[in-house]
Amino acid sequence: MVNITFPDGNIKRFEDGLTGLDVAKSISEGFARNCVAMALNSKPVDLNTMIAEDAEVRLITTKDPEALHILRHSAAHVMAQAVLHLYKDAKLTIGPSVEDGFYYDIDMEPVSEEDFDKIEAEMKKAIKAKIPFERRVVSKSEAMALYKDEPYKLEMISELQDETISLYQHGDFTDLCRGPHIPHTGFIKAVKLMKVSGAYWRADQTKAQLQRIYGTAFFSKKELDEYLHFLEEAKKRNHRKLGIALDLFSFHDEAPGMPFFHPKGISIWNCLLDYWREEHTRAGYVETKTPIMLNRSLWEKSGHWDNYRENMYTSLVDEQEYAIKPMNCPGGMLLYGMKPHSYKDLPIRAAEIGLVHRHELSGVLSGLFRVRAFHQDDAHIFMRPDQIEKEILGVLKLVNRIYSTFGLGFHLELSTRPEKSIGTDQQWQLTTEGLKAALDAYGQDYKINEGDGAFYGPKIDVHIKDALGRTWQCGTIQLDMSQPERFNLSYIDQNNEKQRPIMIHRVIYGSVERFFGILIEHFAGKFPLWMAPVQVVLLPINDDLVSHANEVRIMLERAGLRTELDDRTESLNKKVRDAQLGNIPLILTIGDKEKKSESLSVRTLDGNVRFGVSHEEFLEKALSHIRERKLDLNLFLA
Ligand SMILES: [Zn+2]
Ligand SMILES: [Zn+2]
Repeated sequence: MVNITFPDGNIKRFEDGLTGLDVAKSISEGFARNCVAMALNSKPVDLNTMIAEDAEVRLITTKDPEALHILRHSAAHVMAQAVLHLYKDAKLTIGPSVEDGFYYDIDMEPVSEEDFDKIEAEMKKAIKAKIPFERRVVSKSEAMALYKDEPYKLEMISELQDETISLYQHGDFTDLCRGPHIPHTGFIKAVKLMKVSGAYWRADQTKAQLQRIYGTAFFSKKELDEYLHFLEEAKKRNHRKLGIALDLFSFHDEAPGMPFFHPKGISIWNCLLDYWREEHTRAGYVETKTPIMLNRSLWEKSGHWDNYRENMYTSLVDEQEYAIKPMNCPGGMLLYGMKPHSYKDLPIRAAEIGLVHRHELSGVLSGLFRVRAFHQDDAHIFMRPDQIEKEILGVLKLVNRIYSTFGLGFHLELSTRPEKSIGTDQQWQLTTEGLKAALDAYGQDYKINEGDGAFYGPKIDVHIKDALGRTWQCGTIQLDMSQPERFNLSYIDQNNEKQRPIMIHRVIYGSVERFFGILIEHFAGKFPLWMAPVQVVLLPINDDLVSHANEVRIMLERAGLRTELDDRTESLNKKVRDAQLGNIPLILTIGDKEKKSESLSVRTLDGNVRFGVSHEEFLEKALSHIRERKLDLNLFLA
């Protein structure tokens, strides 16, 4: 008999000679049909693996995230088989599952997306036949003999340290593989090839160029459709495309990776920073500004010169070496260290919207998401040990207020002491407990990443979730035991003794540029009224009404609205359409009736129109909507 322990702690006895599938069937036939693999004593293996002795078993069903990886890697085998059927000279290398699907690197004639249909059709034959995946273990020499005509596989086998090698076969196709795999090809309910690109064997440009064919697979057609819809939506929202279409920013060869902001882009930028300053002032922060270029000796003191130099831009001035700051911290430390501090002065919350430069490889640059020059909405908080919990809680509340204003949800992750770290056990305990206490007091669930903190202290990362459900790490709260030490920072406590302050670095937007990019995609370019570069456009219905419309425009502009007058001799329909394409939240049409009655026809971006709105009502509604930074677009719904 064999005792099987389930994840909930239940133990069940089985006859000898059972497999994972038998365990699944003991629960129900229906459940077994949805099982993909199992974790046998925490190790993922095939469902048909024999369970020879007492073990812990967790069945992996189509609902588990890891099941998707198993499915997609299996789909990579199926794709490789199809390619070999269609391209006799193709030689296989490797085919892993990746974030959103899988790929296989194949040495073969170049293929294009036009070839996908026939490869997919060939794959579907295998899928329809529900061919089982079978694992078999052979010796290294057997494997070498089996793959004598496959140079890449031979190379990989010869490098393996193991004496035996596992192979997976389905139909006429066998691949070197650790597994596990889905029970049979029929589990692939939806598959699609996505793109093809070149790749070098071993990512080495001197080696053979391969075709990397990407695909994705799902357990249902519906999930594939949703994924394709998501991609479509993400493409529409792409901030680089919208950045050009809405005239917000551009990049130029003269400064690769360093964005140029246009007037409309800066208008949004200023909204972001005005709002940021308002919240930070309210939360008791002071603002500072430190130079962009600082002497090498400072960077040596802070440790950046030794640890970060390859990412720093340097310059020689008066035969002295200077570096452009990649972080704001050392400047902030100098400011704190300028004068003595008493325990009564703490906490000090010193913020800085600092422009930093980091040299990134040109291959990783990506619109506003990955740049070489950006602004961090930094702040350094200096405090006493007894203030940790309250201060961190304050930051969490500020984080919540700011993200909520943009309609962004978020989740929190706490990272604790890594293996390599500075500081004493006592310091780590004090600071980690402080962060935990703040998180508990804040009350939202959080994830703990054991050992994932920085070497100089524990941290809380904030991951926001955008309108498409994508998550982005933006905010971070990092405790730092290193910088106060390096800069010998201190304060005088109640007993007149010198103490080292506790210091955190924290950002909320993170990189303002990147946050801007995320917001463009989150709002799909349709910014809420308070952020819109042009809030109101006035459309006179004929040339005679232009001067009246302009008077109204000046009145609105003086009241604080950002306005535009479209006085082109175009049809009203065309002007309305253009204003909608420009995502202008409030479109005012002005005809004779409106002129006579001193009123406006207001069209909002959601397509609603209201006639006969008085100037006073319009201003009052628009201004209070802006003041409260509301997100809805239909502010004139009766
Ligand atoms: Zn495999
Ligand atoms: Zn810092």
